[in-house]
Amino acid sequence: MTEAAGSVFDVVVVGSGSAGLAAAIAAAEGGADTLMIEKNAALGGTSGWSVGSITTSGSPHQERAGIVDGPDRHFADMELFHGDQLRGRDNETLRRLLVDNLPGTFRWLLDVGLVFYGPMPEPPHTVPRMHNVIPNSRALVHHLSRHARRLGVEIRTSCPMEDLVTESGRVTGVVAGGRRIGARRGVILAAGDFSASDPLKRRYLAPEAARVAPFNPDSTGDWHDPAVALGGRIVNGDVVLGPEIRFVPPARETLVRRLPPWLWLARLVRWSIDHAPPRILRPFVMGFLTTALMPSPALYRDGAILINRSGERFTDETVAPWTDMPEQPGGEAFVLMDGALASRYGSWPNFISTAPGIAYAYLGDYRRNRRDIYHEAGSLGGLARALGMDADVLESTVARCNRERAGGERLQLGKAPFVALGPVRAFVVATDGGLAVDGRLRVLGRGDEPVAGLYAAGSTGQGGLLLEGHGHHLGWGFVSGRIAGRNAAADARG
Ligand SMILES: Cc1cc2nc3c(=O)[nH]c(=O)nc-3n(C[C@H](O)[C@H](O)[C@H](O)COP(=O)(O)OP(=O)(O)OC[C@H]3O[C@@H](n4cnc5c(N)ncnc54)[C@H](O)[C@@H]3O)c2cc1C
Repeated sequence: MTEAAGSVFDVVVVGSGSAGLAAAIAAAEGGADTLMIEKNAALGGTSGWSVGSITTSGSPHQERAGIVDGPDRHFADMELFHGDQLRGRDNETLRRLLVDNLPGTFRWLLDVGLVFYGPMPEPPHTVPRMHNVIPNSRALVHHLSRHARRLGVEIRTSCPMEDLVTESGRVTGVVAGGRRIGARRGVILAAGDFSASDPLKRRYLAPEAARVAPFNPDSTGDWHDPAVALGGRIVNGDVVLGPEIRFVPPARETLVRRLPPWLWLARLVRWSIDHAPPRILRPFVMGFLTTALMPSPALYRDGAILINRSGERFTDETVAPWTDMPEQPGGEAFVLMDGALASRYGSWPNFISTAPGIAYAYLGDYRRNRRDIYHEAGSLGGLARALGMDADVLESTVARCNRERAGGERLQLGKAPFVALGPVRAFVVATDGGLAVDGRLRVLGRGDEPVAGLYAAGSTGQGGLLLEGHGHHLGWGFVSGRIAGRNAAADARG
């Protein structure tokens, strides 16, 4: 295969999420002629779908709030999230790299023009350190891609990497769209996780989790086979964010996601969060919150049930309810509650969903902001008709459930009006298994020797790092991308 004219660069970055954008910028800042390729028509990947939380110590926001914090404390706090299942499985070298580089990386994001609100608390972090981008995560993609272009990064969309090119054991380029693209100094794999690859999920995840659909259908782990063929290996392949039940995203974009990422608007929104009365701000915040979040597990403990499209109950909602979801018609279900439960979930402390640190959404917020998934009727029969179900089936499902609950703690569902929220689906949010890498983000091959010319960042280069809690995945994407970009630009062969 020949290289097309104009298809040799110093550094080729594969993927345009948090890691790819940061890597491309850092490589260009390091003086490398840089190409970033993205398989989709649009940039951003999962990073562009995220809430946009970044958790860091040492931010100007913390300083303004008088919070004393630093990388050592952050390092120690991250372990509090691990629990028995994950204890002892972290890559502490990469955790150190992350917490030490987060404060500088966060300030770099501010310099690029991004605006954050925070710091917000998220126990068991011992101090507030979560920062949320304003107005939404698209601002990350918008500002960073513009910055990359200004630095001379060439960006090609609809350009999927199909393979790596090697010469004498060194990675010297990629094959993309059937053409070879040369990389004199290095290739950086920043192509996300493998939550949308059935074969990889079957290979690495527990069987129940492997059956569950991904949140981002483009996270197909295309990097896996070429990297493994060169001796790369996956660390913590079984660790997964989810599966969990989430409301389906709105068919049409919410107002908040449509907001343009203008700097003045971001500053106005941040000012409003501090100064505007909650009554005025609530619709904004709720447009954000009521997108594709998880219904609170407390709902099920109190008495709500999950019914499938046929009106049947199919699982014990209080024990891993996502397990049986893939087998239901359409792979989806509805959260059913009666009037008593509905009024209980109208105010604190009984919220339907939350984006930690931002706000809580109650049933009324869903009625106002997610009319597409809010269904209410004066009788079970009426609700069944609204949902296209057989009324007899739904009525007998609820009658059976109430008989089983007689005298128990969970509410019997008898009081009108009846409310169904949904559809909900089970999602794998992200897989946390990534390629083994060293502290320079070089991919480790056979005998744990770096594969010459090959780097990995973000989810692709997660290397066994545990990113529990909110705001660490994006943090790692940006930190690891910058380090990989810097090192690839300085790669000895260049
Ligand atoms: C709903 C949701 C909310 C989240 N919220 C947060 C949050 O607030 N904070 C946080 O820290 N984390 C959050 N996460 C997790 C976080 O978004 C991801 O872990 C992170 O964005 C991964 O970044 P990345 O750059 O590694 O991958 P991505 O952002 O997925 O970027 C990878 C890119 O590579 C492209 N690509 C894939 N294969 C190829 C190929 N063969 N050739 C070329 N391009 C390719 C993809 O299309 C994609 O654009 C959230 C996740 C979800 C699903």
